[in-house]
Amino acid sequence: MGVATARALAQAGRRVVLLEQFEVGHARGSSHGGSRIFRLTYPDQHYVRLAQGALHAWRELEAESSEQLIEPTGDLTFGALAVECAQALASCGVRHELLTGTEAAARWPINALPTEDVLYQPDGGTTLADRAHGALLGSAVEAGARVLDHHPVTALERANGCVLVRTTAETFSARACVVAGGAWSRALLAGVEIELPVIPTRETLTYFRIPDPLSLPPVIDDAVPNAEEHGLRRTGLINYALPAPGLGLKAGLHHAGPVTDPDQPGTPDPAIVRWVATWAEGRYPELDPEPIAIETCIYTNTADESFVLERHGRVVVASACSGHGFKFAPLFGRTIAALAADAAA
Ligand SMILES: Cc1cc2nc3c(=O)[nH]c(=O)nc-3n(C[C@H](O)[C@H](O)[C@H](O)COP(=O)(O)OP(=O)(O)OC[C@H]3O[C@@H](n4cnc5c(N)ncnc54)[C@H](O)[C@@H]3O)c2cc1C
Repeated sequence: MGVATARALAQAGRRVVLLEQFEVGHARGSSHGGSRIFRLTYPDQHYVRLAQGALHAWRELEAESSEQLIEPTGDLTFGALAVECAQALASCGVRHELLTGTEAAARWPINALPTEDVLYQPDGGTTLADRAHGALLGSAVEAGARVLDHHPVTALERANGCVLVRTTAETFSARACVVAGGAWSRALLAGVEIELPVIPTRETLTYFRIPDPLSLPPVIDDAVPNAEEHGLRRTGLINYALPAPGLGLKAGLHHAGPVTDPDQPGTPDPAIVRWVATWAEGRYPELDPEPIAIETCIYTNTADESFVLERHGRVVVASACSGHGFKFAPLFGRTIAALAADAAA
């Protein structure tokens, strides 16, 4: 979100400094890895329309960078959620197909019960996340943004007509300051008396071998496990899987991880790995259920999975995660930049 915002501000002719406590592209926050699901498929029209705007913004970035950033496979949703999402897509005039399990299993290498509802939306796919992040960063630098790695912001201070941004190396005086600090934002904002109601959780991701992964549409499946039976801390909200370039298939149980401190080294949860392997083996007939890689990634969650993009005087809060924010980055970068322009006025 910070990189996308720096890009939008620099393209609007603003002087921008992007401060990163580690190195841009590190693996300790929320944005690392090779892929994220891109989908218009949401049960809520508001998110469908936002995702339509985001798709347009990704297409512009693809044209600007001359790179493909989304693998256009479409996406699949299983279960009761499929019907809810189909209604929201229909209300927004978005093309989609509601299939039976038998029809879906005939079109893709997946297992589905004959009468199971399966929603296919052809505009979805896999965002090639590392490449997309690189394209946003390249565009920001090209437009004139200064990027400073190893510049942890230690405090913010409101001053007369500006915000003082203190780092371990130097202090910057800015007309506006955007805090897009992911799981670290809450503590930084508390220093300027802004309450950000988010809780970081550490989510476990598991990778599997599968033939021709990039041809597979990302899958969302609302059949969650019984937590007690599988030794899980939380049932999670949905199972998901998507291609992982260079690796195979990446799968997880959305919102199943424990509350975490982003400064602590996290460890994957073996119970989640076991459940996800069971689910993925059941859903993909060609998958090897022996995990080939496991990692963690942090969600910064609001209570209802919404995002916080708001201005408090000269400080702008940009917290867009809850485990589904990546797809909106180039769009939200512009929204946040507009808030920052107001803040600087
Ligand atoms: C397992 C997992 C799966 C996901 N799947 C999807 C998906 O399929 N589709 C989708 O759309 N989204 C998905 N998401 C969500 C998406 O990745 C996030 O919404 C997005 O990456 C959030 O980006 P961010 O910029 O808010 O946070 P981050 O990427 O964490 O960036 C915050 C940055 O601020 C820096 N920072 C913090 N404090 C300071 C400070 N004091 N000084 C300097 N720098 C600081 C941090 O080091 C960090 O680099 C997923 C997330 C995870 C973890």
